[in-house]
Amino acid sequence: MFVQSANVARDYLIDCLRDAHAMETQAVALTTTQADRLKHYPDLEQRIRVHVRETEGQRDRLEQCLETLGSGPSTVKDTAMKLAGNLQTAFHAMTEDEVIKNSLASYAFEHFEIACYHALIETAKIANEPEIAAICAQNLAEEEAMAAWIMEHLPDALQTYLARSTADLEAKR
Ligand code: MG
Ligand code: FE
Repeated sequence: MFVQSANVARDYLIDCLRDAHAMETQAVALTTTQADRLKHYPDLEQRIRVHVRETEGQRDRLEQCLETLGSGPSTVKDTAMKLAGNLQTAFHAMTEDEVIKNSLASYAFEHFEIACYHALIETAKIANEPEIAAICAQNLAEEEAMAAWIMEHLPDALQTYLARSTADLEAKR
C-alpha cells in the first residue's frame, strides 16, 4: 500500500518536473525575445538578460532532477511550450504599449512559475525526495526575486513610456 502510493507520487513528480522543464523552455524563448526587442529601457533589458541566464540554469537543474529519477525532459512538451512563448511575444509586439504589456505578462508568468515550484516542492516532499525539493526551492527564489523586480520597476517603465510618447518618440520598446 505504502510502496504503491510512493510510486504514484514519484511518477507524478517526474510529470511535474517535465512540465516545469517545458515551462522554463518557454521562459527562455519569452525572455530572450523580450530583451532583444527592447531599445529604450536599458535597466529592464539588463534585468531580463540576467533572468535569461538564471532561467537556463533553472532548466539545467530540472534536467538534473529528472536524471536523478532516471528520466529526462519531454521534447514534445518543450517544443509546444517554446511555440507558445514565441506566439506571446509576437502578439505583444503588435501592441502600442508592448513594453508595458510584456511587463504585466511577465509578472503573471513569474507568479505561475512561483505556484508551480510551490507545488513541485510539496510533491517532492511527499515522494520523499528532499534534495529535489531543495533544488526547486532555488528556482523558486529566483522567480520571486524577478517578480518583485518587475513590479518595483513598473513605475519607471510607465514614466519612460509616457514621457517618450509625449515627446513623439518611439516608446513601445
Ligand atoms: Mg523560471
Ligand atoms: Fe522566471
